[in-house]
Amino acid sequence: MTIQTALISVSDKSGIVEFAQALAQRGVALLSTGGTARLLADAGLQVTEVAAHTGSPEILDGRVKTLHPRIHGGLLARRDDPAHLQTLKEQDIPPIDLLVVNLYPFQQTVARPDCILADAIENIDIGGPAMLRSAAKNHGSPAGGGVTVVIDPADYPRVLADLDGPARQPSYGLRLELAAKVYAHTAAYDGAIAAYLSSLAAREPEPAQVPERETWPRVLTMQMRREQALRYGENPHQGAAFYRDAQVGEGLLAGYRQIQGKELSYNNIADADAAWECVRSFQTGACVIVKHANPCGVALGVNALAAYQQAFKTDPTSAFGGIIAFNTPVDEAAAQAVSEQFLEVLIAPAYTGAALALLAAKKNVRVLEVPLGTTHNPYDVKRVGGGWLVQDPDNLSATEADVRVVTRLAPSAGQMRDLLFAWNVAQYVKSNAIVFCGQGMTLGVGAGQMSRIDSARIASIKAEKAGLTLAGSAVASDAFFPFRDGLDVVADAGATCVIQPGGSIRDDEVIAAADERGIAMVFTGTRHFRH
Ligand code: 5GP
Repeated sequence: MTIQTALISVSDKSGIVEFAQALAQRGVALLSTGGTARLLADAGLQVTEVAAHTGSPEILDGRVKTLHPRIHGGLLARRDDPAHLQTLKEQDIPPIDLLVVNLYPFQQTVARPDCILADAIENIDIGGPAMLRSAAKNHGSPAGGGVTVVIDPADYPRVLADLDGPARQPSYGLRLELAAKVYAHTAAYDGAIAAYLSSLAAREPEPAQVPERETWPRVLTMQMRREQALRYGENPHQGAAFYRDAQVGEGLLAGYRQIQGKELSYNNIADADAAWECVRSFQTGACVIVKHANPCGVALGVNALAAYQQAFKTDPTSAFGGIIAFNTPVDEAAAQAVSEQFLEVLIAPAYTGAALALLAAKKNVRVLEVPLGTTHNPYDVKRVGGGWLVQDPDNLSATEADVRVVTRLAPSAGQMRDLLFAWNVAQYVKSNAIVFCGQGMTLGVGAGQMSRIDSARIASIKAEKAGLTLAGSAVASDAFFPFRDGLDVVADAGATCVIQPGGSIRDDEVIAAADERGIAMVFTGTRHFRH
């Protein structure tokens, strides 16, 4: 049974004109719905509108186009059943031998940030799946012929190849395979609709004073492809894998190339990401050393070597076994310097040949080449019991124009540079974060404490241990000082200027303390909690 009539009704119109042309050249009569029919007719093809074929116009804004016995009878009649064929004759229903349908883009629609309920509902395809199921059910038997159904433009050439083959018709094997593909597709399609609707049903009403941000999708569809199984997770008893976000073109793991070294572990990837996000936030050459997801040394430098040497000075003890990231190419001198310490991962946008030759001797060091990129993950996601917390990534950086001097003393130009550098680093340090800096390098980093004053104490103790003086240093605090005691600790340590968000009910007390201690303080008005 060769193909005499094809019904074409597609939302994804890619390749459809060419395919229809090829069918027409092989003598196939074309039936089609509104938009598709117009496209084919515009391409010069002879096409009969389904509405003309059924004698029923498309109604209800296209909700009913092909739901008609003249369509479904043509698709469902068993080709080897005389009674069925007789009925077709009596009812004047021509058989439809080939169905080419793909569905309204429901999943793409609900993934759009501005999708509202009505958009989602109108993108639930009814007639399309009905036809697909009819045609797939009637794919027939090896001997008796049956309907060929194509849902994927990638399969158009396979149908044509069979039409040009010795049998001049799609083989049973192809019809069977395409039918199975249809049911897998409609099942996933219905699954997506069910997931979307049940997510609406499960939604708690929003508190009135917190309006829903309109751009947040009602259903967040993330396409994650397993990129790599990992030997284990954060601890050896936890299994783990890395999934690539199919929607994000940039990012440490979207663009990295591992040049040498052992396989990346779960912790390597997490720490490398922290280091890379931090280092690429600087506009000039910088080096970042990370341990346990926190920067333990960050510095700017005229070249990679200089930046590294300064960054290393902040905390040589913690730098042992760390992750080192550069935002400039690594040359031989920098490679030589880093390979003198024990490091897990080295990251840079490029390496010189001499640097790579030198690093090759350190077989275990994982060397990653990562383009700096300009975009960020669209979402920052944290797993919690029963769901995910999703937020915008914290990409906000401050410039001099964004800060407000609140003390009698204003910072000098040099102090302002150090303050903005310290503020930039603090963004990548776990809260509560206190970061002492001077001359474009970190001097002491206090991270992840439950009280701000402890972070301040730890930062100054670490600086002292590293033999670094804090006299004249600049300090960043990722959130406001709730009391003056934290400010006193940094002043006692030798800081002369402070950058912090402000916004505490005791700001006046803290500003008075800064004035009393001769400190220049600026407020950013934004904070950088990182948990
Ligand atoms: P067109 O662009 O040709 O106007 O519409 C093509 C789309 O309509 C296809 O995605 C097809 O699945 C869908 N479709 C075909 N028949 C019907 C129907 O009777 N009801 C609905 N809701 N959609 C249909």
